[in-house]
Amino acid sequence: MNKITPVAEAFDLSNYINSQESKSFLRFLTCGSVDDGKSTLIGRLLYDTKLIFEDQLAALEKDSRKHGTVSDDIDLALLVDGLEAEREQGITIDVAYRFFSTEKRKFIVADTPGHEQYTRNMATGASTADLAILLVDARNGLLTQTRRHAFIASLLGVRHVVLAVNKIDLVDYDQTRFDEIKADFESFSSGFDFDSCEVIPLSARFGDNVTTSSDKLSWFTGPTLLEHLENVELGHEHSEAAFRFPVQWVNRPNLDFRGYSGTVRGGSVNVGDEVVVAQSGKTSRVEKIVTMDGDQVRADDGQSVTLTLTDEIDISRGDVLAPVHSRPDVSDQFAAHLIWMSENAMLPGRPYLLKCGTKTVGASVTEIKHKVDVNTFDHHAAKELSLNEIAFCNLALSEVIAFDPYEANRDTGSFILIDRMTNETVAAGLIWFGLRRATNVHRQALDVNKKARGGLKGQKPAVLWFTGLSGSGKSTIANAVEQKLLSLGRHTYLLDGDNIRHGLNKDLGFTDADRVENIRRVAETSKLFVDAGLITLVSFISPFKAERQLARDLLENDEFYEIFVDTSLEDCEARDPKGLYAKARKGEITNFTGIDSAYEAPEAPELHLKTQGRTVESLADEIVDRLLADGFIGSDNTWVI
Ligand code: ADP
Repeated sequence: MNKITPVAEAFDLSNYINSQESKSFLRFLTCGSVDDGKSTLIGRLLYDTKLIFEDQLAALEKDSRKHGTVSDDIDLALLVDGLEAEREQGITIDVAYRFFSTEKRKFIVADTPGHEQYTRNMATGASTADLAILLVDARNGLLTQTRRHAFIASLLGVRHVVLAVNKIDLVDYDQTRFDEIKADFESFSSGFDFDSCEVIPLSARFGDNVTTSSDKLSWFTGPTLLEHLENVELGHEHSEAAFRFPVQWVNRPNLDFRGYSGTVRGGSVNVGDEVVVAQSGKTSRVEKIVTMDGDQVRADDGQSVTLTLTDEIDISRGDVLAPVHSRPDVSDQFAAHLIWMSENAMLPGRPYLLKCGTKTVGASVTEIKHKVDVNTFDHHAAKELSLNEIAFCNLALSEVIAFDPYEANRDTGSFILIDRMTNETVAAGLIWFGLRRATNVHRQALDVNKKARGGLKGQKPAVLWFTGLSGSGKSTIANAVEQKLLSLGRHTYLLDGDNIRHGLNKDLGFTDADRVENIRRVAETSKLFVDAGLITLVSFISPFKAERQLARDLLENDEFYEIFVDTSLEDCEARDPKGLYAKARKGEITNFTGIDSAYEAPEAPELHLKTQGRTVESLADEIVDRLLADGFIGSDNTWVI
């Protein structure tokens, strides 16, 4: 009933069509919390750009009197909220797209319903948008939700953002209030890399500064919202993207025809082009491009076509056809940003289904590298993710798939995770890079440098990461190991927790967040030392598994030795080499590991050293023997010894 119909004016049709075609397109979405005025704003834009027919207007006036939340004038929100009921009945999809146009530009606005599942709808709308309008209520200013939306918009590659400070009438059109919100937003948004970031005061309800400027906002010298939408420079599309064709269906009506149906997701293809099946590496040439309207010589991004090839090669649903010289990544592991959208927490290791393009495979999050605090951009360790949280994760799949980094291709670089039991979409994912790809020749160049540096020293660099309670013996053992290695002619460096806290990390305390940062810096530093070819000993309490995992993930698979120096709390307390336990017990030190801060013991360390009843000497020998056995200090260099 409230369906919006595109422009209908008295005009010369062909002129109109021509002028429409030459106009640029802006796709945008609006996001905000419930009651920030999203629907009213869209309604206002449609109303003021004359996209509502007289009969709709009459119905609207009637409805406003009946249901409206605004006393005397028309409640524009009803115009768009009409669809909400349909959505509740499951008739329409998550996101409705509305079309309108002005003299200057055509617009598609993704109308994402603002109730419970904000993030999911927002992410769906943003995945195709050029610009995001973040709405805030002038009385409330920026909310966590606003920051989250800005973050998701940036993750999803939205290049332009407008902060619409709505309901400015409710703060008496006060410039000071606007300036406060503006300053707040500008300091927040400086962390992003948006092409444009505009802050605009408006009242969607009264139409102030939406499509026409307002006397009440005479202090505001910037554009109206519509002016900005009409004039914002969009820059270049990803037209240079490589051809991608995820096969949706193998079309084989009879023995004489074998075609591959799907939609071009990036670039274009011509008859005669050589293509490769990304997963198998088999190549062929495009013979025909078949469409409903007959054969074509070329197919472009977004077109649904059926391709036939000159050779009979094995292709099935989920395979991706690509140019031979510009292949997607193929791997069963990658690092990605996940936007978690389910009430049920994400647990690493739990099996989910992953759908990327036309391919569905089993997948699990092997590791949450960090969770992002959308207010501060800080990275935090996390063991699980709850609703609306965003994290950078490693994922492992049950089989290899073809994909691109999200920044190269929004289609082949994104995926969803599905709960196997409920079939619910639980996350949206954006692929950052593939992991441990045997096919990736580019990365090997770096490895050669590291190898070369280590080779010169006659060793394979590695990290010996000592973890354990304070006083467990990490430093003592590490020190002994370093002496032994030195006497074997090896090149080492010892990063000791206490020493580093006097220098590089002297700005950090002992809260969980600081401990995370403490380890992150040391992990990064140890990676650099390994790159320099050194056997690097790290002696840090490093109480949290997540950060030790983070350190491990910075390194190659076999370069990281987690050494659990396992001494009971009682023994450590009895030794108390620095008198710290005594102080902690007296309450003079807080956040002390083992007393009032947790120590998460390693579950599967490379070396588990139970120190009780053993000498430092024998423990150090055990580690050196392991390095010898694993070939880090090879027996072919015995002359050094
Ligand atoms: P951490 O570096 O783990 O805080 P330290 O190495 O500074 O611990 O202190 C450990 C203390 O325990 C030292 O005084 C050390 O001499 C003593 N110690 C006693 N037995 C052992 C053992 N088997 N291994 C390591 N240290 C031991």
